Amino acid sequence: MKVAPRFGPGHRVLVTGGAGFVPSHLVDTLVARGCTVVALDNFVTGSKDNVAHLHDKPNFTLVEADISDGLPTHHPALAERFDAIMHMASPASPTDFATLPVEILRVGSVATLHLLDRAVADGARFLMASTSEAYGDPKEHPQRETYWGNVNPIGVRSVYDEAKRFSEAATMAYHRYRGLDAAIVRIFNTYGPRMRPDDGRAIPTFISQALRGEPITVHGTGNQTRSICYVEDLVRGILLLLDSTQTGPVNCGTEHELTMRQLAELIVSLSGSTSEVTYVTRAADDPEMRRPDLTLARELLGYEPAVAPEDGLRRTIEHFRERLG
Ligand code: NAD
Ligand code: UDP
Repeated sequence: MKVAPRFGPGHRVLVTGGAGFVPSHLVDTLVARGCTVVALDNFVTGSKDNVAHLHDKPNFTLVEADISDGLPTHHPALAERFDAIMHMASPASPTDFATLPVEILRVGSVATLHLLDRAVADGARFLMASTSEAYGDPKEHPQRETYWGNVNPIGVRSVYDEAKRFSEAATMAYHRYRGLDAAIVRIFNTYGPRMRPDDGRAIPTFISQALRGEPITVHGTGNQTRSICYVEDLVRGILLLLDSTQTGPVNCGTEHELTMRQLAELIVSLSGSTSEVTYVTRAADDPEMRRPDLTLARELLGYEPAVAPEDGLRRTIEHFRERLG
């Protein structure tokens, strides 16, 4: 079933975290569609460079603000009502969990509440960017949306996992009891251009190491798995959900499940690197395996990922090669 776009010319869309990796790609597509897009960001992990090419577009505005402090309603771009609000802001790399723990908790709790209130007031559709981390270290494989997860509530990852789970609960409460038109997407490991080479996540780390000829730092045995999604596929999936009337939660990603050892070897080979794969200490509570069950996304949204890991990784390696010089 093909879902017709609901948001296009004449519609105002607020994208929090709009200068970040995934959100900036969403912003690109929404601007190209003719939506009036306001990106709100405090640049804690994002960068103005990611949206610099949109500077001259009349239907794009970048507002600098920390959404956890409330919406900067004094800003003219925030004064008018929105048709859709996409809460994409949050640091997302496991290395951020130790350096930005309270910031992550706040953007996944008080910021979510500020945005939910605004969405109700505006009668806007609200889309919450949740995560496969909501499943924790899963005991069900692949993960269906009906699985409640296995999260350590006081572990090192809990600042992120529990904040996203709180945001899901809050979104559902506003949907059930305040009539909010809401959607929740559970995003699985996504990669592509505009990731920060030093953000600590496996793919940018392995690519940077491979291009510099440094040892690839696989954590633990490298037998743990992730299913990797090129950003173009994810953006299509998220926008299919936004344009639908579905609430979800809906998984979005791919079934391309690789061990971290396979991923490291693939990146070394695709980048023509001489780096050797090494094995270093693994962090606590690191999920052992992860793969989405995509049945709901397919049935409700007609979503189908299209980019093979080799293609997506090649494109990302080229982007990093240019960026790292
Ligand atoms: P990112 O760090 O590149 O983007 C997040 C953006 O949010 C950044 O620009 C950052 O500066 C901004 N931000 C953070 N806190 C903010 C605040 N308080 N106020 C305003 N702006 C703030 O990360 P990403 O990988 O693009 O992730 C985007 C969203 O997708 C996040 O919500 C993340 O949890 C979710 N997600 C991503 C993945 C993935 O694999 N990339 C997986 C699951 C979920
Ligand atoms: N990982 C790794 N080396 C690194 C960074 C990460 O082996 O330099 C591993 C990490 O332990 C995890 C997997 O790669 O098992 C995916 O980690 P990432 O931070 O990319 O995403 P997440 O843990 O959020 O899925």
